[in-house]
Amino acid sequence: MFKKLVLASNNAGKLAEFSALLAPLSIEVLPQQVLQVPECPEPYPTFLENALTKARHASRCTGLPALADDSGVCVEALGGAPGVLSARYAGEPKSDAANNAKLLADLQGQLNRRAWYYCVLVLVRHADDPQPLVADGLWLGEVRDQPSGSGGFGYDPYFWLPEQGCSVAALPAELKNRLSHRGQALQVLLKKLRTLV
Ligand code: IMP
Repeated sequence: MFKKLVLASNNAGKLAEFSALLAPLSIEVLPQQVLQVPECPEPYPTFLENALTKARHASRCTGLPALADDSGVCVEALGGAPGVLSARYAGEPKSDAANNAKLLADLQGQLNRRAWYYCVLVLVRHADDPQPLVADGLWLGEVRDQPSGSGGFGYDPYFWLPEQGCSVAALPAELKNRLSHRGQALQVLLKKLRTLV
């Protein structure tokens, strides 16, 4: 079992989350920027292809095992859009406010508001690993026209959770991390990794 991997992300929050999760397995997580991994294009139409590409790229550049994630929001009535374009749905420069405004405009008059956050994690042991570890998580909700809550980021103020009776932005951070698409995918990945230890 490897003892070190590179995280194909420059997000400090994700580094902390993945480091904490992998610490019990004695796996050290190194952010890709300290290893001078250049930005990797994400041109594909699926989360899986983009995550796999980022993981392979980070592994090829460093010679280390690599972990990548890709996530976004998918809306049923929009055929799964914004999907892989979630971060830049309204174009450049990326803006949560503009993305949310575009999403609500796209859904105007639409009664089907079913949506889900989706996250896929891909771990490759080396750049040409024929058997990447893949884990995913899906968090079902609906898009509301009115924002509520003051936490979270991105689409959270408009993403309503019928079971909780609130938006994702109204959840305490600890609860969001446990319930979320990312949290679910992390648990699946952890289970798969434990079978390798
Ligand atoms: P990334 O894969 O973490 O870079 O996320 C891509 C984009 O998907 C983000 O910029 C957000 O627009 C959206 N997204 C992913 N996860 C969440 C979430 O938990 N809350 C709100 N928006 C999210």
